[in-house]
Amino acid sequence: MTEQARAAIARLVVDVPDFPEPGVVFKDIAPLLADPDGLAAVVDGLAHAGRDAEGAPTVDAVVGIEARGFLLGTPVALALGVGFVAVRKAGKLPRSTHAVSYDLEYGSATLEVQQDALRPGQRVLLVDDVLATGGTVAATRELVERTGASVAGVALLMELSFLPGRATVGDLPVSALVTV
Ligand code: AMP
Repeated sequence: MTEQARAAIARLVVDVPDFPEPGVVFKDIAPLLADPDGLAAVVDGLAHAGRDAEGAPTVDAVVGIEARGFLLGTPVALALGVGFVAVRKAGKLPRSTHAVSYDLEYGSATLEVQQDALRPGQRVLLVDDVLATGGTVAATRELVERTGASVAGVALLMELSFLPGRATVGDLPVSALVTV
């Protein structure tokens, strides 16, 4: 199934040059999400990172990063039989939150998670579409750790190997279905 996921990504993710700004090649996953076989294959491929050799889930929850991490992470949580937790941009979540700010190429961003979304000791799988500089995953790890939970792994559709994402996320196990 992972081979099918790789083939679906190669066939259905569209490179969009100079979006959203000059010099960036945006990975547009909309055609992949719209293809039922492709979507099933990548959800299965991502869920693999949250299973042991017998296929049993090794995590207590899936954490998805706004916004494409929601689209991919929720079906991965269903496939693993665990719940889904949203990490959102600042100001979107009601009630008490933890917040972590991190640097972007220009400026900074803040991500939040609800304080009661995870319990101490829980192990989570982070899901997102693309690992670029790694800042988003590193900030999400910090948020998860503020709740007392820990990140067991990171499952991604694509890793951009010309950017320092792996180095930024340090010792976290990262599973990317495709490296470009
Ligand atoms: P980074 O924090 O630099 O690793 O960026 C990762 C976040 O930005 C992810 O949530 C991605 O959805 C998004 N992202 C970064 N680069 C791209 C790209 N080339 N195409 C699509 N999404 C991207």
